[in-house]
Amino acid sequence: QAKAAGRNVMAFFDPEMQVRLQARARLETDLRQALPNDELRLHYQPQVDERGAVVGVEALLRWQHPVRGLVSPDEFIPLAEENQLIVPIGHWVLEAACRQLAAWAADPARAVMSLSVNVSPRQFREPDFVKRVLEILEATGAPASRLKLEVTESLLLEARDEARSRILELREWGVRFALDDFGTGYSSLAYLKRLPLDQLKIDQSFVRDLLEDEASEAIVASTIALAQSLQLEVVAEGVETVAQRDWLLAHGCRILQGYLFGRPVPVEALELDG
Ligand code: C2E
Ligand code: MG
Ligand code: MG
Ligand code: MG
Repeated sequence: QAKAAGRNVMAFFDPEMQVRLQARARLETDLRQALPNDELRLHYQPQVDERGAVVGVEALLRWQHPVRGLVSPDEFIPLAEENQLIVPIGHWVLEAACRQLAAWAADPARAVMSLSVNVSPRQFREPDFVKRVLEILEATGAPASRLKLEVTESLLLEARDEARSRILELREWGVRFALDDFGTGYSSLAYLKRLPLDQLKIDQSFVRDLLEDEASEAIVASTIALAQSLQLEVVAEGVETVAQRDWLLAHGCRILQGYLFGRPVPVEALELDG
């Protein structure tokens, strides 16, 4: 007991650790204010087909911190996941994204474009998640069939039957599902067989190393083949060079997303006509 307490005391007074803990606590306090202070924004990044036409857009959350400027979602989403703030934040994201989707849907030139929204595992596991999504679709008038929810493999670790039945329920309304960051989690191919998904997104870490690393080439090529044989759409993330694009198209990946085609930007700056 004394020994354990001693270790904790030591850890607490480790000055570096303390600075980190304070910074984190500060960020957390500020994050609680982000919604009431209207500091969250959505940016949008295009997904293009082999001709370069925009077939979809992914909504990516940004936090405009009053002092620190733009904070990356990789920094604050994990924090929000831990303290439940992800639920109201995720709700805000869905609503803002669906409002935008409804506006696009009213424009005949955008009639086939889908909108992808990231959903965190915690948000997805909320008991009223399905109800919330349906309410937002109804309130905003966004067409369900053009909404794509991006989930990650971590979602599939627990409560798989639950996840499956939620996905099925939303799919009945036309909502589609993408498995994000494919290959980085604890993917079991058995999940892929069991889950009613529509799209696989090849993680950008594999795309980055394409043409430099034979293992990445092998992984990407077999992911594309796997997606095709399961009749899933496949999207490559993080495409930055013409060489990567050409390789992906040659290997049958027809939807591409990355800085080569456009960075995530506010809706006013989004170019949808190529
Ligand atoms: P993600 O969903 O895998 O999104 C793709 C990330 O790759 C985005 O980072 C995007 O800006 C970045 N990216 C796109 N193209 C390129 C490229 O060509 N090169 C490089 N180096 N990066 C590229 P971002 O916007 O910083 O978001 C990071 C992660 O935060 C997302 O990864 C997603 O997991 C999470 N996230 C973002 N918005 C939301 C949200 O609204 N809700 C939830 N739950 N998570 C979100
Ligand atoms: Mg995503
Ligand atoms: Mg991803
Ligand atoms: Mg990611």
